[in-house]
Amino acid sequence: MLKYAKHCSLGIISLAACLLAVGMFTACAGENSPILPNEIIPVDVPSLSPEVSPVESAAPTPASLRYENVPSAAANYGALVLVNYLSKYEHTEDALSMTAHIGDNKSKNLLLTGSDLRLMPDTIHALNEFADGFFEATGGDRLLATSAFRTLEYQQQVYVQYVKERGEEMAKLYVADPGCSEHHTGYAVDLSTICADGARVPLIDHERFDWVNANCAAYGFILRYPVGSEGITRVAYEPWHFRYVGREHAALITELDMLYEEYVEHLRVYTADTEVLYAAYNADGGVDVKPVKIADAERGGFIVYYVKAESGDTTNIPLPDECLEYSVSGDNAGGFIITVKL
Ligand SMILES: [Zn+2]
Repeated sequence: MLKYAKHCSLGIISLAACLLAVGMFTACAGENSPILPNEIIPVDVPSLSPEVSPVESAAPTPASLRYENVPSAAANYGALVLVNYLSKYEHTEDALSMTAHIGDNKSKNLLLTGSDLRLMPDTIHALNEFADGFFEATGGDRLLATSAFRTLEYQQQVYVQYVKERGEEMAKLYVADPGCSEHHTGYAVDLSTICADGARVPLIDHERFDWVNANCAAYGFILRYPVGSEGITRVAYEPWHFRYVGREHAALITELDMLYEEYVEHLRVYTADTEVLYAAYNADGGVDVKPVKIADAERGGFIVYYVKAESGDTTNIPLPDECLEYSVSGDNAGGFIITVKL
């Protein structure tokens, strides 16, 4: 079972904390503390830019919307950044300062190949729950994290080592160029398993691999490079590589049956002044999805939409006047993805 944790409403939060941490929802003014899928773990981070603050918009606005101002440069930061061979991640040093050692706050059901493995705090929290779920589902087997956050230098080493061991052709299929790996973000993890008898079994060979695939979204993870995705991702099938995107987006991506590249592209048609993507959890644990006008979105679900980064220093983010929580993340491709719980 997923454990849900309450968090206190955040007032003014730093942009870095807001944009780099997935699952970090900000409570709308005047609302009670919401229930979150992920516990908020406060992190001491350097402020990358001015704090998010409410602004008055000069343009006429629908009565149901208000605006918050974020630095346009923040479009390259956040939990929902797209990182691939076309979309380099330039903020690995910032990400490093945001990550934490997994071992410092680890479930007993999660094992690590090294004490230096780091991830974003909310990704660690979700991974712990994922490992607890796997332990329960398998009757005592454990997830083993084999690789997590990587610096640019480390990614270079990984590439060189892979070329040495398996040749350049294989390295190009399985190892991203430095800057193009999701491992630079702190939201990606490679997983294997250790069975109750101590045997190490690759995830794909584990008898409950189907459980992992069917349930990873409930913990906020997607299998980032599924079978047949090479044409778009330029990465071969990696049954071990999971990307944390938060429960809402993992559910949407699963329902829409899209690769992450396709999903980020798909969201661009949903904007606050046209229609947004509305989703509500159903009895099967998935989501029912439909486009709606923002004013027609019903309570109890969540909405997702896109805001293009403005060319000036700041971008106005439209938000429903009445919402429980929201999060803003850059997509690393010129815009922001907004997630609002209603
Ligand atoms: Zn990986």
